[in-house]
Amino acid sequence: MGKIIITIDGWSSCGKSTLAKQLAKALGYIYVDSGAMYRAITLFFLRNHIDWTEKDAVVEALKEISLEFEYNEKSQQSEMYLNGENVEYVIRDLVIAEKVSEISAIKEVRDYAVKQQQRMGRNKGIVMDGRDIGTVVFPNAELKIFMTADNAIRVERRFQELYEKNPN
Ligand code: C5P
Repeated sequence: MGKIIITIDGWSSCGKSTLAKQLAKALGYIYVDSGAMYRAITLFFLRNHIDWTEKDAVVEALKEISLEFEYNEKSQQSEMYLNGENVEYVIRDLVIAEKVSEISAIKEVRDYAVKQQQRMGRNKGIVMDGRDIGTVVFPNAELKIFMTADNAIRVERRFQELYEKNPN
């Protein structure tokens, strides 16, 4: 069978990325963490003091951004690179989490990220997760999964995730 595109959408903290990573590993596919891309864009905006309420400033800033994933043999996962720098760990910081929703809601930012995601899926053989991946990014994906979970489980998952990164 030829390679396909698998999308995993759903609410936050339902286990989308956990499932996506395991699927990609089992199939030998590339896992693309779309949230990491929005986080990397947020990091760039914060570091460069971009006024994201100004459309022109956003458009100019996006021209300076290059996003790629590279597989790390040691951690056995694909890691996010922003302009050649590995930012996989810095983008998980709470400072980023506080701003990423606002920045990812900007139309120009979404258009940019969606284009990059579609480029990454050109050769198929990918698993991508995120809230709009099966609807906006790859509406014609061969396999689309939508995940939900009980609220209490979502809270527990998010707590564990934050705690593992920073017990304080
Ligand atoms: O999945 P993660 O928590 O890393 O995503 C970070 C943020 O990026 C989300 O809270 C959401 O605001 C945004 N996002 C998005 N569309 C996606 C993936 C993430 O708007 N496909």
